[in-house]
Formats: sequence, C-alpha cells, structure tokens
Amino acid sequence: MSGVAKTKGPGDDVPVSGDLVALSGVNKHFGALHVLQDIDLTIARGEVVVVIGPSGSGKSTLCRTINRLETIDSGAISIDGKPLPQEGRELARLRADVGMVFQSFNLFAHKTVLENVMLGQLKVRRTEKKAAEEKARALLDRVGVGSQCDKYPAQLSGGQQQRVAIARALAMDPKVILFDEPTSALDPEMINEVLEVMQQLARDGMTMVVVTHEMGFARSAANRVVFMADGRIVEEAAPEEFFSNPRSDRAKDFLSKIL
Ligand code: ADP
Ligand code: MG
Repeated sequence: MSGVAKTKGPGDDVPVSGDLVALSGVNKHFGALHVLQDIDLTIARGEVVVVIGPSGSGKSTLCRTINRLETIDSGAISIDGKPLPQEGRELARLRADVGMVFQSFNLFAHKTVLENVMLGQLKVRRTEKKAAEEKARALLDRVGVGSQCDKYPAQLSGGQQQRVAIARALAMDPKVILFDEPTSALDPEMINEVLEVMQQLARDGMTMVVVTHEMGFARSAANRVVFMADGRIVEEAAPEEFFSNPRSDRAKDFLSKIL
C-alpha cells in the first residue's frame, strides 16, 4: 500500500506523496516471545496513524524498531526511501529524522527547558548556538510554554513537560514523530493541553505515529487506525470505519472494554 490519501483536516493542503515509513515483513523476538510478527506497514507523508491494542501487543516495540532503538530479526524498514541501517553514521542521520515522544517525557533533569530543546540541535544538527536558541524559544512558544524557558523540568507540570518534549522533538525537524502513549502518565486535567498540541501538529501536516488510548484523538486526528494484538497487525481502517464496524473479534472485544 502506498500513498495513502489524507481523508480530512486542514492539513489537506499539505501535499501527500509516497511512503515516508515502510516496514515489510518485520519480525522480532525477545527470547521465546515473538513480539512482532510479519509486520507490513506503510505511512505516507503527512499521514497520522494511531496504533491501538491491548497491553503487551507490541505497540511500543513497533515504535522502537522504527527508530532502531530495537533491532529486528528479519524484514526491512525504510525511512523516506532509505533502508534503516543497523549502525553507524548513516543510522544516526536517519534516526535524527525520526522524533520520539515517550510516556515518561524523558527530559534531561539537569538542563533547563530551553537547554533541553537546544541540545539536539547543537550536538546532532550542529546548529549554531544563537540560531538554536531562537528556534527553541519559537517552538516553546508554539507549544504554549514559552514563559518556562529558564525552569528545570521538575518545576513544570506533567502536561508542560510533555509539551517541552514535543518541542524538543520538533527542534530536529523530524520527518516523522512517534508518540508512545504521550498522555498516559498525565493527570486527567493535563491530557487535553497535550492532545491539542498534537492536533495542531496533525493539522500542520506532520507525519505522526501515535500509540494512544485516547479514542477521541484517534477519531478526530487519525487518517488511519492500526489495531495490534499479540504482535500482529490485526486490522487497519479509517477511524470512522474502525470504530463503527470493527471486523475482527479481537478488535470488537478490545473496543467493548475501552469505549
Ligand atoms: P505494548 O506497548 O503494546 O504494551 P510492548 O511492545 O511494550 O507492548 O511489549 C510487547 C511484549 O514484549 C510484552 O510481552 C513485553 O513484556 C515484551 N517486552 C517488551 N520489551 C522487552 C524487552 N526489552 N525484553 C523482553 N521482553 C520485552
Ligand atoms: Mg507500550
């Protein structure tokens, strides 16, 4: 499957062309556990794919293979047409094109908010310091935490920290951002402020893979829902189709528990 068309949203004026991420025949084991089984998945430029499924189904591992935080046993992954190498400088370059936002924020505790967003630009992109700072301030403004630049992560709320983490990912000008349960560690009142930033990114045409239990977000922002169970992609469909008419028993059972 290639060039999946965007189905809705103001991001429609962003051109969609070709697969940005492609996994074909990907398998991965953890010892005896076959955690990813024959995964075929393509993500088009500008597409928002929401990945859902029961705990332990392999969603995080899938994300981690896409930026090579995990190796794969067989199959192939390519980013923007280039095969993902197993190591070396080319891997570092490709990995920098893949942003990642984790459930646990993963900010550097001993760096300020501003420094957190500058660091990758300085070390990986070799951006000049003044330009990196300007970009960091602009991105922090964009996610609504521009007034927190000089604070340390622990001085911020969870929702603010996660928005800093999104700004940090954006600072690398990634081609795609992977979000692994970005709101699962947040107090309920902070979930929306993070989802709104993600909604805006989706509307701006960012290519996104989002593992989440937030079905409202899936309905309103996703072009496609991918349902995983036991290391397999069991079903994928447009959100309206998936939620109103899930085909597999696994998906029906899952939805009946969460909706
Ligand atoms: P999900 O994100 O869908 O909850 P994960 O990808 O985190 O699922 O995990 C899938 C399965 O792989 C689980 O059974 C988990 O315990 C196992 N697993 C994940 N990471 C490791 C690891 N580093 N070593 C061994 N088993 C792991
Ligand atoms: Mg997970």
